[in-house]
Amino acid sequence: MFDFSLVRLSFAFALVLLLFQALNVQAGEKALPPSHTVERGDTLWDIARIHGVSVSDLQKINGIEGSKILVGQKLRLRTTPEHNHIVERGDSLWEIAHAYGMTVKELKKINVMTSDRIYPGQKLELGAWSSMRLETYTVKKGDYLARIARLHQMSVSEIKKLNGMRTSVIYPGQELKVNPILRKSHELSAITEIPWDDLMASSAGLKRIPAGNGPYYGQRPKANQQPNLGYYEGPPTSVTRNYRQARKLWLAFDREITRLGKLSDRLMGWHFVLDPGHGGLDPGAVVENLDGNGNKIYVVEDEYVYDLALRVYVMLRLHGAEVTMTLISPNHIIRRSNPPVRSFVNEKNEVYNNAEFNKINRWSNWPNGGPEGNLLRRVAISRKVCEKAPKNRCVFLSFHADIDHSAPEAPLVLYYESRNGRRVDSVSRNFSSIILPALGAGARARGQNLGVLRNNPARIKVVLELRNLAYIDHAWALRFEQLRQRDAEKVVRGMLNYVEQTN
Ligand SMILES: [Zn+2]
Repeated sequence: MFDFSLVRLSFAFALVLLLFQALNVQAGEKALPPSHTVERGDTLWDIARIHGVSVSDLQKINGIEGSKILVGQKLRLRTTPEHNHIVERGDSLWEIAHAYGMTVKELKKINVMTSDRIYPGQKLELGAWSSMRLETYTVKKGDYLARIARLHQMSVSEIKKLNGMRTSVIYPGQELKVNPILRKSHELSAITEIPWDDLMASSAGLKRIPAGNGPYYGQRPKANQQPNLGYYEGPPTSVTRNYRQARKLWLAFDREITRLGKLSDRLMGWHFVLDPGHGGLDPGAVVENLDGNGNKIYVVEDEYVYDLALRVYVMLRLHGAEVTMTLISPNHIIRRSNPPVRSFVNEKNEVYNNAEFNKINRWSNWPNGGPEGNLLRRVAISRKVCEKAPKNRCVFLSFHADIDHSAPEAPLVLYYESRNGRRVDSVSRNFSSIILPALGAGARARGQNLGVLRNNPARIKVVLELRNLAYIDHAWALRFEQLRQRDAEKVVRGMLNYVEQTN
């Protein structure tokens, strides 16, 4: 599917191109952003004026008829000139290189770059590699062109032109040429072809219940999707029985991973503790989002970061690492998102992955949030793992996608720093700075006094806010399994970079 080697039919509207060339700056400086996310109160005219483009160009590039735009909608401000890639938030250099069939070294050389850091809006020259490899996307029921375009970082006009389409009408089963989702790489190419369905097979006597946003192994959630902010299902009556079921499912999943074999031994000897930041009674952030028709849908942080952590789990294991989860679910492992509007339901059924904590059937044994919560059990699980791990090779990663209105729309890595700033976990700070380029354009790191990091015996311990649910676009992205997989691969790539640089 990835072997199409057609010359990318890129084109530019004269005004946009001229404007872009006028603003074309050296690598490292800020350029005109590639897109604008519609905020409450924005009109098409405002957006055109702010960015110095014409309304008719905005309409053409984004396939908009009339002036209706939706809050949270991402409008592309220009088409990508041929032989170039315009960096979007979240793109990372290695992804771009591999998507175009280049090495990072080649890409850096062409662009006279000395570091791997890139910036949103930056224009990268692709040189002779501009004949981009296209992917084929098969239209699913309920798809619409703007969504497909957005998923593949294209404008509606680009996708129409590339496929010789006159209208935006598409039909299920139709094959469209699209840009590759930027996540192919040499090391991970085998992983993107992981037989996910085998990993989600029924085993250990558990019946697999298929679902577009599943599969499930206990029972399918009663609601089809998260219907409002406060909805939840569970918790089951017995934390003890729930834990037994979760372990059974977990061991079956783990056996399937072992059966896949290994991609490398690069993380041999490393021990990881992966911590989905919420779960059990605590769903984390729950936000409202919109589907393509402007209907409300709801995104629950803990359900999505669990999926992300599991994807990281699989890949770390395939690179030879020992990995332990702090929380596990009795009802599902990795889940598909088909269609993405069927958002995951807030199920209060995750338990701490430790027999001790589930021995007694007591309400307070469910994972919970808040200041009186049992958050420190995560640190206790970390301690148990790190005691047995080789010194310096124990890593604790906590996965989040919280709401932070004061933080930018980019991944954030948090390491421990005491309130007065006197004590700083410098090993984790150094780790953070090394993994940032892999996390993509705009990623940042800073210190914070967090309970889950304080007194955590792991040599490296960080909180990864991979998405910021204050941004409608990030809530949107979490709903797509392709993009969750992309986020997970960034984390693994960052880890591999770290091991390479510090060995
Ligand atoms: Zn969180």
